[in-house]
Amino acid sequence: MSATPDTIIGIDLGTTYSLVAVPGPGGPRVLRDASGDARLPSVVTLRPTAGAGLQVEVGWAARSGIVQSAGASVHSVKRLIGRSLSDVQAELPFLAYPVAAGPRDTLQVRLAGRDFTPQELSAFVLRALRERAIAALGHDVRRAVITVPAYFDDVQRQATRQAAELAGLDVVRIINEPTAAALAYGIGLRAKDRGRPHTVVVYDLGGGTFDVSVLRIDGDVFEVLSTAGDTHLGGDDFDLLLMKRLAGDDAASLAAGGVDAAQRAALRQAAESAKVRLSEADEAEVEFSLPGAGLTRKRVRRAELEALCAPLIDRTLAHCDAALRDAGIVVAELDEVVLVGGSTRMPLVRRRVEQHFGRRPCTALNPDEVVALGAAMQAAVLSGGSTDLLLLDVTPLSLGIETMGGAVGKLILRNTTIPCRAVESFTTFVDGQTAILVRVLQGERELAADCRELARFELRGIPPMPAGIPKVEVEFLIDANGILNVAARELRSGQSAGVQVLPNRGLTDDEVRRAVVESQQHAAADALTHRLIDLCNQVDFDTQKAEQMLARHGDRLPREERARIEREMAALRTRAAEARRDPRQTDADALHRALTDFGHGTLTLAEIGIREALAEATK
Ligand code: AMP
Repeated sequence: MSATPDTIIGIDLGTTYSLVAVPGPGGPRVLRDASGDARLPSVVTLRPTAGAGLQVEVGWAARSGIVQSAGASVHSVKRLIGRSLSDVQAELPFLAYPVAAGPRDTLQVRLAGRDFTPQELSAFVLRALRERAIAALGHDVRRAVITVPAYFDDVQRQATRQAAELAGLDVVRIINEPTAAALAYGIGLRAKDRGRPHTVVVYDLGGGTFDVSVLRIDGDVFEVLSTAGDTHLGGDDFDLLLMKRLAGDDAASLAAGGVDAAQRAALRQAAESAKVRLSEADEAEVEFSLPGAGLTRKRVRRAELEALCAPLIDRTLAHCDAALRDAGIVVAELDEVVLVGGSTRMPLVRRRVEQHFGRRPCTALNPDEVVALGAAMQAAVLSGGSTDLLLLDVTPLSLGIETMGGAVGKLILRNTTIPCRAVESFTTFVDGQTAILVRVLQGERELAADCRELARFELRGIPPMPAGIPKVEVEFLIDANGILNVAARELRSGQSAGVQVLPNRGLTDDEVRRAVVESQQHAAADALTHRLIDLCNQVDFDTQKAEQMLARHGDRLPREERARIEREMAALRTRAAEARRDPRQTDADALHRALTDFGHGTLTLAEIGIREALAEATK
């Protein structure tokens, strides 16, 4: 192995298949196995060996043995990465292996008598891809660009990065899958040439999942305007429908479990193979055997398959409409439609997509390979080999911290181009407060309770000072991979603390998608609640200060004035307590006026306080 060129490879780490591609002088190329297949099934089989070792199989070998090695094989690990047990409840029935809660809200998979994290299991797949690249290039490979779904949040991205590290790969950039597909088709360059932004739909129908993304490409910036989809809709469903049709009268015994796992797997394979052949031919012959029926031979026509699948394709198109709506785009504004995923080879899919969007989709590239090719194109740019296109990504959701009373102070807004940095100053609300809890939140809503907590940490050791005096600077830093670092520093004392967002929790895809929509629906109500929280916090602060000044300088005021301030202070506190109890019934403007009046009513007292303080200072 020569110690040479530091090639950066491009990896598409998929739910069912993963691929690796490398930049080359004539453009990127995917790397194939000995039989010419670029796809590596994302399946891992682990068996204990004598001496506490592990026999690891990855890819086709692991996949073909999946039925026999139930309990030793894992598939679809991508559905688990960066998630907690509560996040993946809906996934569990689809997984043929046990998943349990691990420490810090992580997940664990028990295999071969050991517990593995999703990162460790993904690392086996990534290592196999890295080895394929090393064999093809003839030198070591240590750096990679990896793609993830556009809706992956920071935690899922960070977990993917960790998996790569375990496989000996340094991730130089994580990019969104639809972005990679658009890159592979050179849409960024086209947009640049034409000197105007392009709007692109990326329709990705794979084996088990459907994703649609609307991208806006402007100069070097690829922005994901919206995403939608179904995490359980894809080619597998078409196989299942065809399988039931083939089983005919035996379909009931198929459903009732009268067919054993091996027969079921064989029938499924027969159905899938017929489906694939029907993308080219009008008719296909299928052979299979069911208990008591011996070997059966049937002919299926493409029209039959299409009639079975049409309702599912219609569902994907409804998701496309939802994504366009979320992005605020109408079909006529689209510049390109890109097809990704093996199932988009079906003529029915191509026809329906073309009808729906009124334009011929990009299909020139192999839909299985297009994401890996785009990753390798980005790798070429990062290696310095190509300077055509600098890819900048954006944050999918806003990021901020919880402020007093459960409101959210947003530091980085959704769709900000990354890498980026934001700093904001905060202070304490209680006299003598020596610690501040920093809750890092992600989401579009105004209240912490409606956002997702990504991490939390405490800044301790703040010297005791009156409320409002400490100056705490919170810094958010998102690197080019979308990984978030948060730091807090109290400027007077220099005390600091920080956190990198660690993979200990996750959102479901739908939650991420929903976050944006909900924020729009609740915008008005949220803004009102946020304003009320701020007002109530100000009431606490102002009345507390007035109370302290009364205690110190109250004897300098006429008795009636003291009594008036005390009365108004109590009334204002009661109003704030009522507002907190029942925000909907509160007139925020009236509360604001009452607070302003209270400020005016305590001016004399404040002036006395200031004069005293000045006199003290110049004594
Ligand atoms: P992916 O997850 O993107 O690799 O897509 C895999 C899915 O594409 C599986 O359900 C395959 O059966 C399906 N597929 C692959 N090739 C074809 C084809 N020529 N016609 C129809 N479906 C296909």
